[in-house]
Amino acid sequence: QPKAEIIAVGTELLLGQIANTNAQWISEQLALYGINIYNHAVVGDNLNRVVEAFSQAHIRSDIIIVTGGLGPTEDDLTREAFQQMSKLDVSEHEPSMDKIVRFFKERNIVMTPNNRRQARVFKGSIVLDNKVGMAPGMIVNFENRTWIFLPGVPREMKSLVANDVLPYLLQIIGDKAIIKSQVLRFIGIGESQLEHEIKDIIDGQSNPTIAPLATDSDVTIRLTARTDSLENADKLIESSKQQILSRIGNFFYGTDEQTLEQQIIDKLRASDKRLALAESLTGGMVTSKLVSISGVSDVLTGGIVCYDTKVKERVLGVSKETIDLFGTVSEQCAIEMATNVLRILDADIGISFTGVAGPNVSEGKPVGTVFIAVCTKNGYQQVEQFKFRGDRDTIRNRTALKGLQILFN
Ligand code: ATP
Ligand code: MG
Repeated sequence: QPKAEIIAVGTELLLGQIANTNAQWISEQLALYGINIYNHAVVGDNLNRVVEAFSQAHIRSDIIIVTGGLGPTEDDLTREAFQQMSKLDVSEHEPSMDKIVRFFKERNIVMTPNNRRQARVFKGSIVLDNKVGMAPGMIVNFENRTWIFLPGVPREMKSLVANDVLPYLLQIIGDKAIIKSQVLRFIGIGESQLEHEIKDIIDGQSNPTIAPLATDSDVTIRLTARTDSLENADKLIESSKQQILSRIGNFFYGTDEQTLEQQIIDKLRASDKRLALAESLTGGMVTSKLVSISGVSDVLTGGIVCYDTKVKERVLGVSKETIDLFGTVSEQCAIEMATNVLRILDADIGISFTGVAGPNVSEGKPVGTVFIAVCTKNGYQQVEQFKFRGDRDTIRNRTALKGLQILFN
């Protein structure tokens, strides 16, 4: 078994401004495939100390994975440090340079010379194309050691590890396996409930591995299969996916990079329906999320931000009686907002959001009280009350997310 270690470069790690989640994540991934990490090191953005850390690692390990410090700025020293230690030649990697130049051109921004640094690679290295960012990764075989350089940005690092580094490492340690993974995305189910529902499946199975992960916006499960052919990997993943969906399929909305917004838009398009929104406490957040997807114009007529009570009355036509009797944070108001917005904005479906985002109680209703109503042209009405916890931002985010979930279902 080769000895592998991880070096994370960055002063902000030492200052405790960010946690070394890169090392944690890489260790976890490699462990799944039987590659053990023997050491984690963290070093600041200081040339001498990075060189020293690299030299020590070179003595004790066979595989050294470095994250961070590959960017264009002064404090990105990983390249310089390795060059100082190894004395390997560095040259400009043309495809990477083209990509960087193109990036700036497409955005019409002037490219400062320091950006060229990101395209500099060591002689004889395997250059790993960074599909989600600019600086490429590198694998350098030097004096019988395998050095792997990855960007610090977690999203970029992860994509390179999954697509390039893992397959490479498995190959050099003599495992000719094919690895394939798929992410299943869920909404409306918490991480602990999800784990509870499929615990026996997770525990009873090692290929594919099943790794649940919760973020702010959804809960995902990553299935990673390891086998002898792509076809078999697909089969393993598919059968595991079906098993999982038979339990919690109700909460499933997509795979890999698919977004909830995109799914909602596809669904509306398929049923030839157009949507209009009336947003009070969310202030346009839900409309904005949908508008971020190209092609939304087919299914979205518009959104009205109706914050002030007077605007709810005058622009949206909520009746004075409703407001006097029930207030703006009420079932009745939500329904009128949704039915009226679909009429005013000439849509088939209207959705409305009204509630108390806090920090103060409003109309005697506690912070976190939210009503979401959905109405359609042919008279269907649905309204739900929610009690969200958290600060103003959290309540507004949860409301927006709940709205997307309702639109998806
Ligand atoms: P960039 O091109 O963005 O400068 P880089 O490869 O130079 O990328 P760094 O500048 O070291 O990488 O880090 C970029 C960002 O990635 C940091 O601001 C930090 O948020 C995150 N990051 C860096 N290292 C780690 C780590 N070990 N764990 C988690 N996050 C990290
Ligand atoms: Mg940087």
